[in-house]
Amino acid sequence: MRRIGVFGGTFDPVHNGHLIVAENVKDQMHLDTVLFIPSKIPPLKDKSLITEKLHRLNMLNIALENNSSFEISEIELQRSSEEPSYTVDTLLELRNVYASELVKFYLILGMDQLINLEKWKEPGKLFLLSEVIIINRPGYLIQQVENDYGRQSIYVPVPNVEISATDIRYRVQENRSIKYLVPDKVEEYIKKNKLYL
Ligand code: ATP
Repeated sequence: MRRIGVFGGTFDPVHNGHLIVAENVKDQMHLDTVLFIPSKIPPLKDKSLITEKLHRLNMLNIALENNSSFEISEIELQRSSEEPSYTVDTLLELRNVYASELVKFYLILGMDQLINLEKWKEPGKLFLLSEVIIINRPGYLIQQVENDYGRQSIYVPVPNVEISATDIRYRVQENRSIKYLVPDKVEEYIKKNKLYL
């Protein structure tokens, strides 16, 4: 059975926090693959503020190029409708994509996501389609997720990495350093393409 981690996000931009936690979950849960799934229009984010999908995808490709266990799925970016993408639909679609293989999906969610889960489309169904893994994130306490969803999830402790894409975007705008917060080549890409100015 192939064990596949499903790690969705805006990745605007992908940063070392994403890479560190994904590698830790892969290691602790013995995953074969972690699938990074950039979202087209995140249902709970302001879509006018999201960077063009091609840039987000290019940065992910650069960031993941030297880890053979990390893959990218364009399943959400390729959706034709202007509708936002919902994780429950993505998991259903992934079942079809991998229909010829024996696979188990592990949906990786930061604690900030779990707290919001009741606002998601059909949250209960996520637990039928995958094992839900919760990882810690600075600023969020495990006590905050002592709800029904938290109890059905597997908590995987990862190093607390205080990096967020929001902070990186602010830093670039204010001409401050983002060195060591993103891979070097992602930093170069951001500069070259004048992103987040
Ligand atoms: P933004 O600041 O723009 O909201 P973000 O840094 O939260 O972005 P996303 O692409 O929205 O990044 O996150 C994708 C997934 O990664 C989410 O499940 C989020 O909880 C998780 N995540 C992001 N950064 C960290 C971190 N530093 N530690 C743990 N989990 C993280």
